[in-house]
Amino acid sequence: AARLCSGAGGEAEAANGDGAMLRHLARKLRASGPVTVAEYMREALTNPGQGYYTRRGGVGESGDFITSPEISQVFGELIGIWYISEWMAMGKPSTFQLVELGPGRGTLTDDILRVFKQLASVLSKCDVSVHLVEVSPKLSEIQAVMLTGGKVQPNPEDKSAYMKGVSKTGIPIFWYRDIQDVPPGYSFYLAHEFFDALPIHKFQRTEKGWREVLVDIDPEVPDKLRFVLSPSRTPATQIFIQPEETRDHVEVCPEAGVIVQRLASRIEKDGGAALVADYGHDGTKTDTFRGFRNHKLHDVLSAPGTADLTADVDFSYLRKMAQGRAATLGPIKQREFLKNMGIDLRLQVLLQNSGDTATREQLLHSYDMLMNPEKMGDCFNFFALLPHQRLVHPDKKDKPESKSPLPPVAGFNELLLK
Ligand code: SAH
Repeated sequence: AARLCSGAGGEAEAANGDGAMLRHLARKLRASGPVTVAEYMREALTNPGQGYYTRRGGVGESGDFITSPEISQVFGELIGIWYISEWMAMGKPSTFQLVELGPGRGTLTDDILRVFKQLASVLSKCDVSVHLVEVSPKLSEIQAVMLTGGKVQPNPEDKSAYMKGVSKTGIPIFWYRDIQDVPPGYSFYLAHEFFDALPIHKFQRTEKGWREVLVDIDPEVPDKLRFVLSPSRTPATQIFIQPEETRDHVEVCPEAGVIVQRLASRIEKDGGAALVADYGHDGTKTDTFRGFRNHKLHDVLSAPGTADLTADVDFSYLRKMAQGRAATLGPIKQREFLKNMGIDLRLQVLLQNSGDTATREQLLHSYDMLMNPEKMGDCFNFFALLPHQRLVHPDKKDKPESKSPLPPVAGFNELLLK
């Protein structure tokens, strides 16, 4: 199953697995008191020794959750076409970097690079390179095998990257821990199920005002964690709760805000576009923090480091953080985006070309997973950052008729490849 789109909690599951992370957290909490949910989530997911992504990062059928690129190759192919369509609409620049944040097993980039190869005649004069932002050493190894066959060079001297290699299709690939290390330049960014993994703060309205939800050790049960409320306001309640807020429970992901600001500034300065795909809402949901293990909901406070922790992406917050520097489109539902990108036609071609019933059934099943509103079709969204001039001619205000209309942005409108 895919990670469900909302609904927090999950049945408490026996905390088996090794308890190293729990012991580490319990020591820390005993010594210095409760921590924010963001701090807890960061430790549980990306602690360099024991974090969930650092150690296992269970994307895929044999892991803890499955994602769209793992379900069907068509997903990545259509995203590859999105980049080519934007590259053409932006006047076919002579070079671009494809930058993926949180590439998981590397499947999405692999599918995109296959499309780039198939459309080599279109891209022939363009110098393409791939830049992967990945904190997990374990997952970067899996990506290296998927994309290069495992032929990589660690710590290259000439770059800020921690690893480099060449894709099976001959394109240079570099790995970084942080988006800030990726060299500047015309870039197409991609973040699929990345923002939902970043640490969130949780807040609750009380009679005495806003309080922050914290994680503490349960005094009654050894090595058991529990949620508590901060006794007074915290710096985060003051910064992140808007005076006009109407909800009683709020989640905010400042790290997502910072990354979107970085993407927007880079796009404003060097050109390009960013495509963000994730489950999320437009500033309306309240309690979406949840855990997954073995494809099942998992209590977020039980056996930290052994389960994936995630929260819905607040697209209204991302839009606000991009504002001024880049234009935004969406969020639009996954099924609408993929339909606009031509998924129906692509499915027909694959069905016609497949000889056996099992393959056909698999194609139809994966189409249903991606598109069915009850499955991933409605709760996954696409959201884009684009340079302002991609949507409005700079001189449009003075001379509305002066230029031919800008081509529509594929996915958010129907795909028109000329
Ligand atoms: N995009 C993939 C994987 C999603 S899982 C897919 O859709 O299948 C989240 C990914 O983000 C993993 O690769 C994880 O290791 C990475 N990740 C999580 N937190 C990160 C951070 N702070 N910086 C960089 N990568 C991170």
